[in-house]
Amino acid sequence: MLKIIDDTHPSLREKSVAVSLPINEENRALLLEMLEHLAMSQDEVLSEKYHLRSGVGLAAPQVGVNKRLIAIYYPKDEEKKQYVKYGLVNPRIVANSVRECYLSNGEGCLSVPLDHPGHVYRSFKITVEAFDIVTNKDIVIVARGYDAVVLQHEIDHLDGILYYDRIDARKGQLDDPKALAI
Ligand SMILES: [Zn+2]
Repeated sequence: MLKIIDDTHPSLREKSVAVSLPINEENRALLLEMLEHLAMSQDEVLSEKYHLRSGVGLAAPQVGVNKRLIAIYYPKDEEKKQYVKYGLVNPRIVANSVRECYLSNGEGCLSVPLDHPGHVYRSFKITVEAFDIVTNKDIVIVARGYDAVVLQHEIDHLDGILYYDRIDARKGQLDDPKALAI
C-alpha cells in the first residue's frame, strides 16, 4: 500500500528529476502501484477498508519519490465502462491555450488535507507529450477542460507546485470573466 505524504513534507516542494527510458522495472512497478492506488481509492468497499481518500491523479513526489512520473485514472463514461487511464513518464506540456478554465467546486489534492477555497485558473486546452506505460508508447495527448486540469495539476507536482499556490498568486485580482467554469 502506498503512503501518501502531505504538504508539510519537503518532497512536495522539490523539482523532480527526469526518468531514463526505456523505463526500468522499478519505475514501471511504482507507476502501476500508483494506478492501482487510484482505482482502489474509487472503489466503495476498498476505500473504506483501507481509509483511502478518493483521487483521480497521483504524482510520484506524493509518495516521496522525486521522479517525473504521474498516474491518472477516472471514469470517462461509467455506463460504457470507459476510463481515462495514463501512467506517464516525463510528461511535458508542449502547447497550451490562452483561454483559461477552472473547476467551479475548486481543486482537491490527496496531499493537501485542508480545504483551500478559490479558483485555480489553468489552460483550457493543452498538448502533452510523454511515454505512457499503459499503452507502452510515446504518446501525444490533446486534453481539454477537466482532462486538461487534471494533467496540469499532476504535472505541477513534478515542479514542486501545489494548487493553492495558483490561488494565492491570483489573489486580489478580479475573477476572469472569459475563463470557463467546469
Ligand atoms: Zn495533487
